[in-house]
Amino acid sequence: MLNEKKVSRSGSITIPSSLRRELGIENGERVKIDVNNAGDIILSRITGSCMMCGGNDELIKLDSKYICKACISKINDIVKD
Ligand SMILES: [Zn+2]
Repeated sequence: MLNEKKVSRSGSITIPSSLRRELGIENGERVKIDVNNAGDIILSRITGSCMMCGGNDELIKLDSKYICKACISKINDIVKD
């Protein structure tokens, strides 16, 4: 499957809706952008979910697990008191 896309003025690239549907990519889902040794841009889905709430919004990798920013904020509030 070859999809040719133009990079917008702001640097955005749209993932074709058919591909998003096929892969079940949700609005707001985070993806990882890497460059391999050949200079190819590799777009990967961030797999995993928050170890506290199970969500997958704004995940941060902590060792081999993920935690979301909302849970980090809750933990900060508890530790602060
Ligand atoms: Zn969470």
